[in-house]
Amino acid sequence: MSEIPTSILVVSNHGHIVGGGEMSLLDLLRGLDRRRWATALVVPEEGGVASGARELGLPVHVVPLPTLRYPGPRVVRSVGALARLARTTNAALIHANGSRAMAYAGLAGRPAGRPVVWHVRIADSDGPIDRALCALATEVIAISRAVARRFAWAPKKVRLIPNGIDLGRFTPRPPSASLRAALGVPPSAPIVASVGRFVEVKGYRYLLEAAAQVARARAGVHWILVGDGELRGELEAHARSLGLAPQVHFTGWRDDIPDVLALCDVFVLPSLREAFGRVLVEAMAMGRPVVATTGGGVPDVVVDGETGLLVDPAASAPLAAAVQTLLENPGRAGHLGAAGRRRAQSTFSLTAHVDAVERAYAELLGVDRVAG
Ligand code: UDP
Repeated sequence: MSEIPTSILVVSNHGHIVGGGEMSLLDLLRGLDRRRWATALVVPEEGGVASGARELGLPVHVVPLPTLRYPGPRVVRSVGALARLARTTNAALIHANGSRAMAYAGLAGRPAGRPVVWHVRIADSDGPIDRALCALATEVIAISRAVARRFAWAPKKVRLIPNGIDLGRFTPRPPSASLRAALGVPPSAPIVASVGRFVEVKGYRYLLEAAAQVARARAGVHWILVGDGELRGELEAHARSLGLAPQVHFTGWRDDIPDVLALCDVFVLPSLREAFGRVLVEAMAMGRPVVATTGGGVPDVVVDGETGLLVDPAASAPLAAAVQTLLENPGRAGHLGAAGRRRAQSTFSLTAHVDAVERAYAELLGVDRVAG
């Protein structure tokens, strides 16, 4: 028996890819079963999220989502445009990725009785705004326990669904000698890698200081720092001032993260706080041992002593010590990496993530799951 797919209107806070939240949203859109769900995407402007969704063959609508701090005619027009879209696409449910998206989805969807799901990917509280948006939402999806704690006063509304990673893309492979050479790393040098936005909260200052401490104890370790952000220039200058320029490689933004991860002996993420940390799962999926901090959602992902080593945030000495421990014990590092791959498979697959979101849709809409 063929079924007519249920329409879902997905609203994204951003048209551009700002961080992992937009990448996770695109992964979800890719994974949702087209036989069951007909998704259309709303973005506030053109950019990588819009083009990513178009590449998936999904309809994309651009509706500006001006800040709600100063309500006025532009806000009213956008709420009206979204409500019309929900009607014309016959949306059974609106899925809001982020707070501003939630505010608009709530205002446009709730008066017509449409369930609205608020997907929350940030652990920092917005105070009274959280309460208002939570009241508007039919359900809140939190990506980690750290995010769920933001709504500790509304436990019944919160569903914990960890992000999932495409384990087919992030699958162990032999390291590429040509990539190593292209990145400027000598053939047998140990490699520590990190991937992330160069912004304050990622704590890269502490990582550079840790790199200097490791260099004093053990010469020849190279560091590959992948990503971009407002602090990049400052961090590069800091690396130079620490005398680390020859062994710390800033690569800029790259799309070949699995290949870079395959090169490294240890993966490190020095975040002060982290709602989830997709890169942690990506490193684990690649079988890499992880050194990370106990900030926010990280302990949900990395099990201390089992898939990596967790240290206090905002300090360089514990980071350096943990990295050195793993560099000096390749056997232990290998065990942690293998356990990381198993944990990524058992707990953070994209398939499991998509299943859980589909289950949430089905429950909220009162539709039965269709087998197969
Ligand atoms: N990423 C990438 N290339 C880069 C830097 C980052 O593809 O040069 C990806 C990375 O693989 C991960 C995402 O960006 O999937 C970052 O997500 P995460 O949750 O780690 O951090 P966020 O940016 O959300 O704080």
